[in-house]
Amino acid sequence: MPAIASIMKSMEYGPAPEANDHVLAWLARHETGFGHFIDGAFAVPADAAFIDVANPASDAVIARTVAGSAAHVDAAVAAARAAFPAWSGLSGHHRARYLYAIARTIQKRERFFAVLESMDNGKPIRESRDIDVPLAARHFYHHAGWAELVESEFPGAKALGVCGQIIPWNFPLLMLAWKIAPALAAGNTVVLKPAEYTPLTALAFAEVCREVGLPKGVVNVVTGDGAAGAALVAHGDVDKIAFTGSTEVGRLIREATAGTGKKLTLELGGKSPFIVFADADLDGAVEGVVDSIWFNQGQVCCAGSRILVQEAVAQRFTAKLKARMETLRVGDPLDKSIDIGAIVHPVQLDRIKMLVGKGEAEGARLHQAACALPEKGSFYSPALLTGVEPASTLAQEEIFGPVATLTTFRTPDEAVALANNTRYGLAASIWSENINLALDIAASVKAGVVWLNSTNIFDAGAGFGGYRESGFGREGGREGMLEYLSDPAEKTSGQAAEEKTAFAAHTDTLPAPEQASPIVDRPVIDRTAKLYVGGKQARPDSGYSYVVSGRDGKPAGLAGLGNRKDIRNAVEAAAKAGDWGKVTGHNRAQVLFYVAENLSARQAEFETRLRSLTGVSKDAAAREVETSIRRSFWYAAQADKTDGLVHQTKSGHVTLAMNEPFGVMGIACPQAMPLLSFVSLVMPAIAMGNRVVVVPSETHPLVATDFCQVLDTSDVPAGVVNIVTGERDVLARTLAEHDEVAAMWYFGTASGSAMVEKASAGNLKVTWVNGGRARDWQSDTEGQGRLFLRRALQVKNVWVPYGE
Ligand code: NDP
Repeated sequence: MPAIASIMKSMEYGPAPEANDHVLAWLARHETGFGHFIDGAFAVPADAAFIDVANPASDAVIARTVAGSAAHVDAAVAAARAAFPAWSGLSGHHRARYLYAIARTIQKRERFFAVLESMDNGKPIRESRDIDVPLAARHFYHHAGWAELVESEFPGAKALGVCGQIIPWNFPLLMLAWKIAPALAAGNTVVLKPAEYTPLTALAFAEVCREVGLPKGVVNVVTGDGAAGAALVAHGDVDKIAFTGSTEVGRLIREATAGTGKKLTLELGGKSPFIVFADADLDGAVEGVVDSIWFNQGQVCCAGSRILVQEAVAQRFTAKLKARMETLRVGDPLDKSIDIGAIVHPVQLDRIKMLVGKGEAEGARLHQAACALPEKGSFYSPALLTGVEPASTLAQEEIFGPVATLTTFRTPDEAVALANNTRYGLAASIWSENINLALDIAASVKAGVVWLNSTNIFDAGAGFGGYRESGFGREGGREGMLEYLSDPAEKTSGQAAEEKTAFAAHTDTLPAPEQASPIVDRPVIDRTAKLYVGGKQARPDSGYSYVVSGRDGKPAGLAGLGNRKDIRNAVEAAAKAGDWGKVTGHNRAQVLFYVAENLSARQAEFETRLRSLTGVSKDAAAREVETSIRRSFWYAAQADKTDGLVHQTKSGHVTLAMNEPFGVMGIACPQAMPLLSFVSLVMPAIAMGNRVVVVPSETHPLVATDFCQVLDTSDVPAGVVNIVTGERDVLARTLAEHDEVAAMWYFGTASGSAMVEKASAGNLKVTWVNGGRARDWQSDTEGQGRLFLRRALQVKNVWVPYGE
């Protein structure tokens, strides 16, 4: 043992290992292999093949788990289904007691879970002990609370059924808690598939479920690789899929679930900016980088992997950062004084090395801390890369390792442009002592979570989730609960809206331009309606129109036959109208009230038009217009009242859950009630600050094109509402595929709904489809309400610390 005098001289750390004998004893008890946890019991299926689970710090195999097959998944789903009626039928209070018992038991076993997690994943014990496990327990406590309150806080909402949950290897127990706690609180049952590399804490958690007497089948754990995950996604008796992992797999899951009616939440990758302004507390920001990209070896979806530093302080900041890197200690995860543990698996280590090598080949300069690495296991020294071009691999690809890039900027605008120059939108960390500047940047970055002068803070009370290709849906807080409940206003059953698109009936009679005139010459035809793009009437790119039938089935007019190019033009016009999302709710309310007023002024005209175009009775036409006016008023009223929330999370913080518009939205309207359905969909979307490209009723588009005149006279800025008439499903597909469109609503056929969901996988846009089910647009519960507003928003959680 070194003498105290020599220790004082060198100030070297001595070893500080955490005891792991209790975990070793537990592993020894399962030496022959862990089974799945299905219907309240662990069992190794007769046909089981095993997967070795290794400790990434030593490469030693520490356990074997079953490679789940489709048949195993089937058994687990059957158990969850059988348990669902009784579990969902319990009172919220009763479920709260179980969740509370789980929280307490995790807390009692904190040390065991922390050591097991570090041995399985390679993360430093300091992190698993102080972050992962306490946050997991907190999640169950918080959701015990939601279970208690579910009936009063979400009146009329119902559990969804069986939830398939697939989690990654970076925070195995914490991700399990994020998935299972809200699902159970809401009354669902679950089948969880942990990651192949890190299944052990999920199995230990299953023991907790058994110990607290959770009814059989409520929680089931099927171990295995991606094939087991895919089988769960494909299973016909699963009502919801919740996935955390790579964007690539998220995209596959979006495609696989398209048209199935399964509810979906995706928490995917990121390439989050870490923005340091010249007036930041630079020492604080350097510590922020440590917590941001070297936390959990950088294997964090919201890691601030792109450091953006204002030029004036870039040199000073870089010097401080490099000096700090030299003090980081990489090594045995069970050593309490280690900062950086092991990379989860040699495959992931190779991927990190490959991507860094590629970055260097593209011209980036690598600086790595000169720390000694253990001889065995998967370790990687913290790395900083400079000279990284914004479009290069290192700036665009999620590396998922302890690797940060550093780029400079001059102005706040440039910082925002660089920050948003990514397909992702998960998180951002902003460092400045100027609160005005910091909040301004927070509002401008496209990210679901923003930390000011802080980073990587999580709490069960605040929602977490991304924008853009970082996925959709939120985990945590009220928003997270909504993902596990069916909204009473959502139509989950009912009769089919439309068997097929009406257009098919018209295409045969589609007149070529030169043939159009004889039809136009007929007295019933008054004019050829154009498209409405960027606040102006626009001829369709094709030059073609299509015949629109009136009430007697005879041609009543011509509508423009929009195509891909028209959609692209409309999206471009909508993209340019971005200021609409920045004006106050009051401004938008005024404009929407004006729309309602102008519609009201033309009430009689719209009634006549509806009667002649759709053949509805005088009364029905009057009711449709009257409800459209009332509905417009209702959304005008909501424009400045659909507020966000302030969450009570950590002490010394306010967490602002701010409602933000998506940006450009696509809307495909149903055939029925062409005025009312149009108003019911467009008004909530624009009330919340979105700009829309709308495909109106294909059979009765002329009502929507008449509506342009209302828009023109109501101060609606150009580009906020764009209307492209034509074959709905063709146009809807183009909208769903368009990368500039951030959200898409589709109300048509079941096959059209499936098509939209599938086509949306490109940029993983948020979709809302009717699955072919009819909605009663006249009804205030089905045709109007908070559900529409919620579907037109995404929540950004901004963490603002306070205190000196
Ligand atoms: P994946 O997305 O492949 O894995 C996440 C989970 O999905 C795992 O349980 C995995 O099983 C399962 N899975 C894999 N394929 C399918 C499928 N087709 N259908 C259903 N489930 C599936 O991530 P990886 O572990 O392969 O990591 C690759 C990269 O993904 C990382 O380098 C990182 O960039 C990113 N990543 C991002 C995460 C995040 O939180 N944003 C988390 C993890 C990874 P199995 O464990 O057997 O692969």
